[in-house]
Formats: sequence, C-alpha cells, structure tokens
Amino acid sequence: MNCGTSAHIDLAALKHNLQQVKTYAPNSKIMAMIKSNAYGHGLLPVAKTLKDADAFGVACLGEGKYLRQARVKNRIVLMRGFTDLEELELVTKYDLEPVIHSQEQLEILDQVKLENPITAWLKIDTGMHRLGFAPVDALNIYERLQSNNNIAAKIHVITHLANADDLSSNVTQEQVDKFTSLLEQLPGITSIANSAGILNWENAHADWVRPGIMLYGVSPTFNTTAEDYGLKPVMTMMSKLISIRHLHKGDAIGYGSTWECPEDMPIGIVATGYGDGYPRHAQNGTPILVNGVLCEVVGRVSMDMLSVDLRNNSTAKYGDPVTLWGENLPIEKVAQKADTIPYELFCRITRRVAFSYQ
Ligand SMILES: *Cc1c(COP(=O)(O)O)cnc(C)c1O
Repeated sequence: MNCGTSAHIDLAALKHNLQQVKTYAPNSKIMAMIKSNAYGHGLLPVAKTLKDADAFGVACLGEGKYLRQARVKNRIVLMRGFTDLEELELVTKYDLEPVIHSQEQLEILDQVKLENPITAWLKIDTGMHRLGFAPVDALNIYERLQSNNNIAAKIHVITHLANADDLSSNVTQEQVDKFTSLLEQLPGITSIANSAGILNWENAHADWVRPGIMLYGVSPTFNTTAEDYGLKPVMTMMSKLISIRHLHKGDAIGYGSTWECPEDMPIGIVATGYGDGYPRHAQNGTPILVNGVLCEVVGRVSMDMLSVDLRNNSTAKYGDPVTLWGENLPIEKVAQKADTIPYELFCRITRRVAFSYQ
C-alpha cells in the first residue's frame, strides 16, 4: 500500500554497519539482532543482507520459524526461549537455539527425550532483573544442563547489560565483573554486549556480541548520532508536501490549537501522521526536512497529516519531498524531540508505509 509515506532501506549501509561491528569487536562472533521485523526494517531482506552474521537473534519462536520457512540457514537464537512443551518441539523441528532462563524451562526439558540435542544459551541475571538465573544458582543450573541429554555439549552463557548506553554509570562494570567471576567456574561460550556495549565497553565483548540498533545505523547512547560511531543510517522515511497555506498572525494550527502563528506565514501540510508511525508526541520544533531544508514541525501531529513552519524555506512548493528521518536527518534527534527512542519509532511504523530496498 502507498498512502504518501515510504521507507527506503539502504542495504549497502546495513552491510557497512555489520562491517563496523567487526571493526569494533574483531575477536567476537556476531549475533545480528533482527527481532521485531528487524527493528521495523523488514525481516527477510535484512536477514538476506546480513547473511555473513554468525547467528541471528530474535525474540520468539514465531520469528525463528518464519525465518526457517523462508530458508534462512544461519544459526537462530530465541531470546525468550520456549514457553511450553509444544514450543520446545518446534525449537527442535526448526533447529533453533533457545535462551534458557527459567526453572519452568528446565522442568519442560526434563519431561522429554528429543531426537537431537539443542544448543542452549544459559542466561544469567547480573543486574538487568528481567530474564535469567541468579548468579548464585548459575553453577547448579549449568551442571543440570550439562547432564541433560537434550542439551548439546557446548553450553553458551550469556547476560544482558541494563545501562550500557550510559557511559557514566557504574552498573555496566559491576555486571561485567559479576559475570567474569562466575566464568571461573563455568567454562561456557560467553556473550554480554548489545550495541552500546560493543561501542563503549570493550571489556564486555566476550565470545559473541549481539548488535541490534547499531546495525540499523543508529547510535545507542544519549546525545550522539550514528555518525559519531562511523555508522550509516539504513532507513530514510519520506513523505511529501500536499499543501502550502498562507496563514495569518494568531491563526492556530491543528487539533487543540496548540500552536499559533506568531506572524503572517506559510505553513506546509505533510502527508504523514501517527497513522504511519510518526510520533504523535513530536513537540513543536521537531526537525523535519522539506526538500532538504531543515524546518520544524508545529502543532499536534494528527493521524494522516502534520504541519511544518515554512518561514525559512521560501522555495518550498507543492509536492516537495519531505524527510521525516534518515539521510541528513538523524532519527536520534527526532526521537529526542518526541520523548522516545529510535527503537520505538522503528517498531511503530505501520502497514500503510511502502518499503523499498536498494
Ligand atoms: C535486543 C537485544 C540486543 C540488541 O540490543 P541493541 O541495543 O539494539 O544493540 C542484545 N541482546 C538482547 C538480549 C536483546 O534482547
């Protein structure tokens, strides 16, 4: 479908960013995180472009199964593992590798005899307090997995960083230390770092890194953009100008009349809104490019349209291309003005946006 907004995916930039992961973490294997439709970029085109990744990481069985049915051959790790016996059987059927993080999963593993042992990624909770076993239980669980015939001999041991995007926080070092001291007892293959860990915490690189957002050409840390890390934005969201209004001083713009023209001025109407995934919470002053010229969003974003201050863009004309984020307009800056993060902007793009790949 095309309703005026399109997402252009630059596959060469995606490859470049994978190469950058290798440059930052030259001694680690790469699990490319492609959960949630590859952060909204399109699961299969992204998986095909990143086929050199040592493995793919997805959230759930459904995503892994979808990749296998599309004949993706890479190793695939399920971050949430399996939740019941039926899922465990599908994990084997589709040759997927679950994260093991709960007592319930261990009990399910004890109930079956699988034809082929599965590769397990044992998750230790070093401080994120989302999924994983407490460090005090790690050795016990590790040994239990080792003696289970359903589990392949080489056990991977992983943890997840809660604050790697905050360079001034002590939490990351504490998590790495906790994990490292455990490893004296567990001889597993290790993995710690997300993008922020890869870019800023070299001591967290371990045997496997798990880049997500950096692959898509976005910085994971506050007040920086992709360019600061040598990354290239993969997605450029485009729309167009469908009207130019010449309004008067005091005229209010959009629902709630939240913004008034301070003088007689031109206002551009853009063919995009929260119905396409543009954030409704974008404040007055959110950056937007009209025919390449930096302008500001004014008034509330509505479902199908938004308004732009065109005072500094006297050549703007009907039909002009509008860049919402991407090339020449870092998504980090848009997200900041909308009180959110690029991850969420990507995941909220809706089905009426037309995707193109080149
Ligand atoms: C999503 C995810 C990542 C990737 O995080 P980014 O910040 O996008 O690099 C890594 N590890 C786990 C467990 C994840 O769920």
